[in-house]
Amino acid sequence: MILPPPFVPDSSVLRGSGVGQGVAIGPVHLINASIVRYQRYKLTSPEMVEKELRRLHQARERTAAKINSAREVLPEELKSQGGIFEAHLLLLYDPILINTTENKIIEDKINAEAAITSSVRRIATVMSGIEDPYIKSRLNDVEMVGQALVDSMQEHTTDDSVLFQEGCVVVCRDISPSEVTSLPIKRIAALICEQGSQTSHTSIVIQAMGIPAVVGATGILSRLEQGDSVIVDAREGHIILSPDQDAVKFYQGRLRSEESFKVEIVRSSHLPARTLDDHKIDVFGNVELVEELPAIMSYGAEGIGLYRTEYLYLTSKRFPSEEELFEVYRRVVASAAPRPVIIRTLDLGADKILAASGTPQAQQNQALGLRAIRYCLKNLDIFRTQLRAILRASAFGQLRLMLPMISSLEEIWKTKRLLAETTEELRLEGKTVAEKLPLGIMVEVPAAVVLVEELAREADFLSIGTNDLIQYTLALDRTNPDVTDLYQPYHPSILRMIKTVIDAGRARGLSVSVCGDMAASPKSATILVGFGADMLSMPSASIPVIKRLMRMSSYSDMVNLSNEVLDVNTSEASLALIESHLRGRFREFL
Ligand code: PEP
Ligand code: MG
Repeated sequence: MILPPPFVPDSSVLRGSGVGQGVAIGPVHLINASIVRYQRYKLTSPEMVEKELRRLHQARERTAAKINSAREVLPEELKSQGGIFEAHLLLLYDPILINTTENKIIEDKINAEAAITSSVRRIATVMSGIEDPYIKSRLNDVEMVGQALVDSMQEHTTDDSVLFQEGCVVVCRDISPSEVTSLPIKRIAALICEQGSQTSHTSIVIQAMGIPAVVGATGILSRLEQGDSVIVDAREGHIILSPDQDAVKFYQGRLRSEESFKVEIVRSSHLPARTLDDHKIDVFGNVELVEELPAIMSYGAEGIGLYRTEYLYLTSKRFPSEEELFEVYRRVVASAAPRPVIIRTLDLGADKILAASGTPQAQQNQALGLRAIRYCLKNLDIFRTQLRAILRASAFGQLRLMLPMISSLEEIWKTKRLLAETTEELRLEGKTVAEKLPLGIMVEVPAAVVLVEELAREADFLSIGTNDLIQYTLALDRTNPDVTDLYQPYHPSILRMIKTVIDAGRARGLSVSVCGDMAASPKSATILVGFGADMLSMPSASIPVIKRLMRMSSYSDMVNLSNEVLDVNTSEASLALIESHLRGRFREFL
């Protein structure tokens, strides 16, 4: 851990969880808590004020038209219950909402989106203070109408990316995975999020997009203003507020040395991860967005160990068609060939909600709600469409299929039946499907660990999803910053479960990989390999580091260390053992 230099006063350092690597220095660009694409800006001329009033009224007309057409397509039997549409139309034309917003545009000289959000907040505060339960129940409607107005404006904004200053540091309360992908990435130096945690799906996308970030930065929004200068140290999870010249100089130096370390290890990353005593570990890459493929391959990935297909759904406004999915999968598989690609079927749910349709519905206790394979088996049309696209793509390279969140044999049997049916369907249509499609399962739910021997009989390979395994075993929401310190990869229960899975898979002669974040950290990767994992799959930036570590290590040392770690019974003791092992020879990896 590299601490901020002593001349940086502690009072100007804010700590959170680092995501990705790198240091960034830039001006703050505050964005709204949940509506990423809307920016707040000041109106500096009467013409701008006029324009914003016009945008507000146009958005109102478009939103009303949308509500009316949604009402039109309601089935006859539901039309009588379409009161929600009436309520929203009334609110759209209600003087309270529109007049308050107009006043804010004129008097506060802020753009229409900012004015709507501020009016909704004010109305919500007044409404929540009224004791009448009916009034309270309408609060949600006011927020929905406000959001619809903002959305409508955004759809008609041609290039809002110009509002982001080149090299800015985006600061927000929280941001969803799909919202991250809508940021003008080339203009952004770093991201700070008041909420969130390192292993949330938002952080996974942030990392995939190569943006250094700090999440779970509690209190950040009350300490920054638009345009303030800020330093983000993603590796350590530090934020330096209003840095002086000495601090800027220090971090510029850090930035340069990190870059040269990176250049040096990337240069050798095409070499295999073969240990000093000649044990080979396969190092694969995780992909969320197709755009990542060239970087992953240039960083020396020997294949794709986890293609998280849900991001394609999360970034589009509707469910993609079979043809669209097929085209993307074919491209991924063909461009990686002859290297293998493990495509994981849809893992929607929990913190991965479709932006447009809100599907699956945001639920209470959402990590325990309808997610992944459970969602797919209840939405067979969606699942079949994806399976058909994957099967068709299997003719173009080395494709393997993987099922997320498996917790029972029935889920595998049902999926196998669907696969057999869709394969036959496709062949009858004259489409080519690979002769054999290896089918693997993710082990990321404690139930799967208990049943692993039976499940392994039905699978061609196993992949351990440590992000969820930790969440579900320790009963800690992986997105909740309040429990970040308790989210412990080195918890004895986690380490012993991983060992159980690897032993069971190997006893059946199966490949057992790890594709959760533990594979990407030098400390845990050492233990995973010592336990017998034969493949590690990780974000591209970690590939050169892990390959280099493996080339400098001895397999027998890693096995001995892992056995020792299995014997201790606290997270702290496991971590201390691993750190003392690495400190001896591999200080640079700590
Ligand atoms: C995991 O849970 O470790 C995993 C790899 O899947 P995801 O992070 O997409 O849930
Ligand atoms: Mg998972």
